Amino acid sequence: PMEQLPFDPKKRTVVILGTGWGAISFLRKINTDDYNVVAVSPRNYFLFTPLLPSCTVGTIELRSIMEPVRFITRHKSRNVKFYESECTDIDPESKTISITDVSDVKGAVTNTTIPYDYLVVAIGADNQTFGMAGVREFACFLKEIWDAQKIRTRLMDCIESAGFASQTPEEVDRLLHMVVVGGGPTGVEYAAELHDFLKDDLELWYPELADKLKITLVEALPNVLPMFSSQLIQYTERTFKQNKIEVLTKTMVKEVADKEIKVLDADKNIVSIPYGLLVWATGNCPRPLARKMMARLKHTQTSPRGILVDNYMRVAGANDIYAIGDCTFTKYAPTAQVASQQGNYLASVFDNLARIEEGQDKKITPFEYSHQGSLAYIGSDKAIADLPFLNGNVSVGGVATFVFWRSAYISTQFSFRNKFLVMGDWLKSTVFGRDVSRE
Ligand code: FAD
Ligand code: NAD
Repeated sequence: PMEQLPFDPKKRTVVILGTGWGAISFLRKINTDDYNVVAVSPRNYFLFTPLLPSCTVGTIELRSIMEPVRFITRHKSRNVKFYESECTDIDPESKTISITDVSDVKGAVTNTTIPYDYLVVAIGADNQTFGMAGVREFACFLKEIWDAQKIRTRLMDCIESAGFASQTPEEVDRLLHMVVVGGGPTGVEYAAELHDFLKDDLELWYPELADKLKITLVEALPNVLPMFSSQLIQYTERTFKQNKIEVLTKTMVKEVADKEIKVLDADKNIVSIPYGLLVWATGNCPRPLARKMMARLKHTQTSPRGILVDNYMRVAGANDIYAIGDCTFTKYAPTAQVASQQGNYLASVFDNLARIEEGQDKKITPFEYSHQGSLAYIGSDKAIADLPFLNGNVSVGGVATFVFWRSAYISTQFSFRNKFLVMGDWLKSTVFGRDVSRE
């Protein structure tokens, strides 16, 4: 059945897919006086991803970086309709989308279609696995809230099993070997948080095991963090060395099994690495829905890496469909900064479209990205930052940058509630240490 929207029939309906960085920036800015707005996403909250690595060890609690979408849209002049569901198909011909309730609890109706006048696709990206067998089965990703929860539980499981009565020394070593695949910012920040947990908490609560815990970061390229300046790459690699995080560069994972991975090392030998916890952070690939839409538009959607859009974020080959953020393939990196600027931009495009319809003289200009710099946490209260400065770039790293990193992430939280919760968690873990209970 076609769902009838209880909205103003005189206004056009904008459907937005997703509740991530792109979608939420769009929702915050779109004027609901001009449009009926419908949001569709399998999760009913926004997730502040930059602090997700901190949740894997309990520096920050999961709910502190989640914000219900209804909190975000409550100040709108007209109601934003939200459906917690996954969009499974987009039909550009009939201008409808199919949605499915993918939650554990379902009502009598689990599938329906909804019409749109304009569609904004902001569904983010999937985890890249290169189709390698075993990755989805045995590794943990670090993209969603449940990934951080799973890592935190599994980490404590490994530690407690290593401490099991009469455990063999080989098994202790394996269980306490934490392997991170991918030396991009996700892998680096996770390894950094894990190191802090080891130093600050495990040494205190598990003194007999702490010195056996080993962290290894595996990266296929010659260095980690290719998007940072060479000075900061070296600084990070030095800091990791001091922190006893082993960095295996020019090393490519070839096989993943339940207790070990096989890698092709820098000398072109196949080496097996036993692990207790495997975290997989090798970047993005398009989600099934994006691939399905691209297949429908195959004459214009020719990139396997993501949805192609023009400078106005219009999906190539489609009418009235826009795409923003990680689901697109553009000259920009797939970052929160880009996605949120695109979300803001697109809301202003819709504003201008409404004014043009009213007869006002407005121009729609192409999207322009303004880079605010790159920041990453590298452990032991140090962060690195590449910041644009007077047409150049300054690269800074250390404890002062860490203070800047924290204040930058506090100021970019969307709500006072989240700022308060995150600062409370920082204070709590400083005063009491992190909680080592296994959930
Ligand atoms: P997302 O934020 O991933 O949102 C996608 C949304 O679409 C989600 O709500 C999802 O539930 C929904 N969705 C998925 N499938 C469907 C479907 N079929 N139908 C409807 N909805 C769907 N970037 C930075 O700039 N700075 C950082 O410090 C930083 N740190 C990061 C740390 C981590 C651990 C990670 C994983 C990423 C980090 N990023 C950072 C990258 C940043 O998170 C992404 O670039 C950003 O989330 C992209 O925004 P998006 O809106 O395109 O996608
Ligand atoms: P990424 O694409 O940035 O890095 C993935 C890394 O994995 C690459 O360096 C790649 O060479 C390596 N890799 C791929 N296959 C491999 C294999 N088989 N074996 C070993 N290594 C392999 O991915 P990411 O770190 O998840 O980041 C995704 C996006 O999110 C990026 O745009 C990033 O800038 C952004 N992000 C930013 C921050 C931050 O600004 N602090 C934090 C996290 C993520």
